Amino acid sequence: MNGEHKITSGHRARTALVYLRQSTLVQVREHTESTMRQYALAGTAVGLGWAPGDVEVIDRDLGLSGTSAAHRQGFRELMSRVCLGEVGAVIGLEVSRLARSNADLARLAEMARLTGTLLIDSDGVYDLSDFNDWLVLGLKSTMSQAELHVMAGRLQAAKLAAAERGDLRAPLPVGLVYDDEGETVIDPDAEVSAAVADVFSCFAAAGSAYGVVAAFAGRKFPQRAYGGAWAGQLRWGPLTHHRVLQVLKNPAYAGAYVHGRHVTRKRVDADGNVRTSTAEVPRAEWKVLIKDHHPGYVTWDEYLAIEARLAVNWTASGARTVREGSALCQGIIYCGSCGGPMAANYQGSDRANYECHSRRDGKKKDSCRGIATTALDDAVARVLLDALTPEQVAFALAAADQVAGQHQRASRAAELAVERARYDADRAERAFSQVEPENRLVARTLEARWEARLATLAEAEHALESASAALPPLPDRDTIARAAADLPALWHAPTTTARDRKRLLRTLIADVTLMPEADRAKARIGIRWHAGTADQLIIGRPRPSGIPAPTPSPAVELIRRLGPSAGNDELVAVLAGHGYVTGAGRPFDVKAVQWVRHVYKIPVPPAVEAGEVSVKDAAARLGCSTGVIYYWIETGQLPARRSGNRIAIPWTPAVQDQCRARIAESGHLNPAARRTRPRKTPRCPAEEPR
Ligand SMILES: [Zn+2]
Repeated sequence: MNGEHKITSGHRARTALVYLRQSTLVQVREHTESTMRQYALAGTAVGLGWAPGDVEVIDRDLGLSGTSAAHRQGFRELMSRVCLGEVGAVIGLEVSRLARSNADLARLAEMARLTGTLLIDSDGVYDLSDFNDWLVLGLKSTMSQAELHVMAGRLQAAKLAAAERGDLRAPLPVGLVYDDEGETVIDPDAEVSAAVADVFSCFAAAGSAYGVVAAFAGRKFPQRAYGGAWAGQLRWGPLTHHRVLQVLKNPAYAGAYVHGRHVTRKRVDADGNVRTSTAEVPRAEWKVLIKDHHPGYVTWDEYLAIEARLAVNWTASGARTVREGSALCQGIIYCGSCGGPMAANYQGSDRANYECHSRRDGKKKDSCRGIATTALDDAVARVLLDALTPEQVAFALAAADQVAGQHQRASRAAELAVERARYDADRAERAFSQVEPENRLVARTLEARWEARLATLAEAEHALESASAALPPLPDRDTIARAAADLPALWHAPTTTARDRKRLLRTLIADVTLMPEADRAKARIGIRWHAGTADQLIIGRPRPSGIPAPTPSPAVELIRRLGPSAGNDELVAVLAGHGYVTGAGRPFDVKAVQWVRHVYKIPVPPAVEAGEVSVKDAAARLGCSTGVIYYWIETGQLPARRSGNRIAIPWTPAVQDQCRARIAESGHLNPAARRTRPRKTPRCPAEEPR
């Protein structure tokens, strides 16, 4: 071998490491030749004079790409052992490709130079302390990097050219297959294509991906495996939300050929490892988009409609979807004052208000107002039902026919499964009947297989039976026509859910705005139709809950007349004597009288009698705060009387003198007293001023 003389007994006394690497599992599986050659390097090491016990093979990186050292445990192990100085030589098939990145190789070469480790490949032996070898290795590494770059560039260009013609073959999603001529066609397996078509029809009916998942409960969905042991095989499994989105978003189902829908992005994580992730590319940036490239399950326009629908459902982006609550305009009502969305605020099961969102953000304006949901919803529903014309009813009937079609399709999947099971059973029967009776072993196997197929058939037939039994009967066309003619009844029917009403509302109305209105007893509502027109209506606002109905005027008159001189208890008795009741029909109590006083601004009789003063008066006379007076009353130093919810203090010159004396004595109330009064405890000598 070239440069064999560089190997010394010192190198041979240390371990020889054979490092094996193969980028992908496919290479490991299919390029067995290369793998064999790599393992044979252990023999080369022995040939170069190492004892067989001193040769070690590191093959942990087989099947991992060499582009970066991250995740490659084997390369890390190699590096650490070279650093420890226990390695005499590192042997690889091609040293310049031990590590595919120049940085990794440069680190290895530097460590090998410091620890006197040789690098050996099929070209020869490199001693990195020799400048020539160092230079050659560096050049080879740079060359291989350049070679990779050129190769990758050519491959990418060729790939893109093929993609632009629509000829670059990529794995097709389930439900589409390549035919013998290489053209993309709908899967001839009717069971598979029916399942895929049902995803789209279920989405059209349910309007959400979760709705599709619910519709597929108990039913399986096909998936085609790519690569690995299952390559090309069809497997049936539950339909997950993620799978539904994959199907709905895949333009291949709309007959379009697309290249560049996904892009791989790299980032360096906190540990310094490079992580690769796949991200979706916006439609505008797809490199290749060829419409009508092959037959699809939906048209391109339908694909765009699905995309828009999914965007509307995507609440994380601020979309407001239809929810279960009873508030009809939830999600489409806006505040006409600040322009913000309004939220339905539920208070208990029967009451709710639309309230301006801005309250939460602190951007609320004075003119931002809420409204009870029922008042607004009733008005909007009336407008909506008035707007429905006979043409629209005809349109609804057509939709009903479509629903009937989907209804049948649900059991169609089970029918197809029965058909397939029957076909399999027939085939097993034929195979069994054709076998020579003498060939008992084969006959026994075939008989067992036939029996198994018959069992599967029975199972499928049972599934079909229960599927058709589970379908609720659809109303016939006449019933629907009658119902459509009497839409208000249908709208208010208990079987119509809040969700249904909201969906119907949203099909015609784009949004509803609660406009500013000067008259506080009225509400002005703006309705914008999808058709582009707008309506405005004014409705009476319901009285806000919590405020009672107006008190009948004779009672108010009575309170107005007697109120300034009579106490509340007295008024309650007089009102009861007259048989007056409140607006809500209840007998008057103190609270009700207080409320009427508050609303009609009727004064209360003065609380203090002759010779008495209020707390406020007493405080003013003494020149102290009311707090002091309250404190004296609480601690029993000042006699007082409670009258209603006021306090009256009997005031005589003697009481006044007492109070003044108390203030004069108090160091707290009178700062002058604090300075002149002798201290009760003598000062410590240390505190004596000098
Ligand atoms: Zn507002």
